[in-house]
Amino acid sequence: MQRSLVDLHIHSTASDGVLTPTEVVHLALKRGLSAIALTDHDTLAGVAEAQAAAGTRLEVIPGVEVNSEGDWGDLHFLGLYVDPENPFLNERLRAMQEARVGRAQRIVKKLAWLGMPLDWEEVRALAGGQSVGRPHIARALLNHGYISTTQEAFDRYIGREGPAYVPRLRLTPTEVIEAIHRAGGVAVLAHPAYSGVLNQVETFVSHGLEGLEVYYPDHSPEDTQALLALCQRHGLLATGGSDFHGPGYEEGAPVGSVYVPWECVQALRRKAGRL
Ligand code: AMP
Ligand code: FE
Ligand code: FE
Ligand code: ZN
Repeated sequence: MQRSLVDLHIHSTASDGVLTPTEVVHLALKRGLSAIALTDHDTLAGVAEAQAAAGTRLEVIPGVEVNSEGDWGDLHFLGLYVDPENPFLNERLRAMQEARVGRAQRIVKKLAWLGMPLDWEEVRALAGGQSVGRPHIARALLNHGYISTTQEAFDRYIGREGPAYVPRLRLTPTEVIEAIHRAGGVAVLAHPAYSGVLNQVETFVSHGLEGLEVYYPDHSPEDTQALLALCQRHGLLATGGSDFHGPGYEEGAPVGSVYVPWECVQALRRKAGRL
């Protein structure tokens, strides 16, 4: 396996990651990476810190991961090379963050009914950044000894089928793609092998989709080959990354552990008009 110089899917404490943007950059430098994209859920708040920490040693591509809900279920999109200052995208993200707060409070209320009272301020503090999410609630449950792993929180209480689950505000795929485009970004379907929409890629292309996340921890070599073929057929960019959330975190893999060809960054730059 060639050593990867690129990781285009990374989370930090700006959303549900465990490491600060600065710590993520130090890790990426230690692993010898040349380019990373910070792709926190519904927020660009970590990008400036990561870029400042990186200086000229490493390119930090401004990114965001936004989930959508529609006829195709729960699809995740990455916006890469978005302008972090774009008012339209930021307004969309702000609305989702606001909705996340009300939704997390409802989850906390349901957990109290189930005999697991949590202090809202504690959850808020655990979130720290702007995007409060279920992983923060899972960590609070763990701190109180209600569960023994954060995974247990999802399996028993706050997963999709769980008794304390509350859905959150989601845009449609078209709205997500539009917001990414208006911010000058490239719209990529994240971890597509599990999206269930690979037979409808053409529809998404007509809605403005420009790339598929071909290289991903859980993708088998066959998945990767099939996705590369789809990219070629539909003129889509191939991207990839670890979906790193933190050391010991169940989701994702270590920074730089997924091989992503350097050409992906060049193609992205061209598409985003950065070359
Ligand atoms: P939220 O955005 O608040 O709905 O939380 C979604 C995040 O929770 C995802 O980005 C994952 O990091 C994590 N997550 C979602 N489902 C699970 C699960 N079944 N097991 C563990 N973590 C999960
Ligand atoms: Fe996450
Ligand atoms: Fe995702
Ligand atoms: Zn992710």
